[in-house]
Amino acid sequence: MPEFVEIRTEPEEAKPELDVSFELLDLDLLKPHEELDPNELEAFIESVTSSGIFWKAALVSKEGYVILDGHHRWAGLKKLNAKVMPCILLDYVNNPEVKVYTWYPFIVGSLNHLIDVLKNIKEIDIIYESSKDIIIEKVENMEAAFGLIHSDSNKDFILIVGDEDPYDLQKIIIKHLIDDQRIQLGYIDTIKGAEELLAQRKAVAYFVRRAPKKKEIVERASKGKVYPPKTTRHSLPFVPRKIHVPLDKLLNP
Ligand code: ADP
Repeated sequence: MPEFVEIRTEPEEAKPELDVSFELLDLDLLKPHEELDPNELEAFIESVTSSGIFWKAALVSKEGYVILDGHHRWAGLKKLNAKVMPCILLDYVNNPEVKVYTWYPFIVGSLNHLIDVLKNIKEIDIIYESSKDIIIEKVENMEAAFGLIHSDSNKDFILIVGDEDPYDLQKIIIKHLIDDQRIQLGYIDTIKGAEELLAQRKAVAYFVRRAPKKKEIVERASKGKVYPPKTTRHSLPFVPRKIHVPLDKLLNP
């Protein structure tokens, strides 16, 4: 079972399906840019080993061979001792067709408990701030790792700051949230969607964060550093058509 829910408010179904050519790229050539979720990894391994077919090519940047979409497929194939993965190579950094957004973590549970958890994380400080616009501005300027927006009108919103790199701070915070039994963590694709979750009382709070820029993603991955899970959400104007590659061909190319 995945330990978080993922909510997509912008449906992929609206996009045209296209045949896109792919290449079998050496797994060791590819560079991840995000941490993995162990449960997602198991789900992929189960799927590919039971069917024996690999059907969804990963998206990889031509600049630096960075995995844009396909971290769990890559790690799963590695675990199965495969040598190569089907990849769609994309012009990335200067290609306006490839867009990068982020996922917004949201919380189901008690807001007071969440704030207590945050207060106990030694690497961060929390600053109260009443203006949502200022929160978003500070997050966009990388002056804060996260902004916390909630639905309790008696409390100010919160900015989360610290000395480390904002994305490293996010990693620390998310790890604490995952480890806490009383908090359920989910991810949603838009702030508008997150606001609706609060209005419908389906969540008590959500975190705003800045989506990294493409150049930063390539640079970070090239240095062997990764972002927290689900930091980036890459979007193409089309959905690549399913492929049909026997797993055997990836194990013994
Ligand atoms: P990734 O980081 O690889 O995108 P996700 O956790 O988002 O990992 O999801 C795993 C992906 O693997 C999903 O997009 C799922 O559709 C895909 N998948 C599942 N089974 C297979 C398979 N047999 N071949 C190729 N892709 C698969």
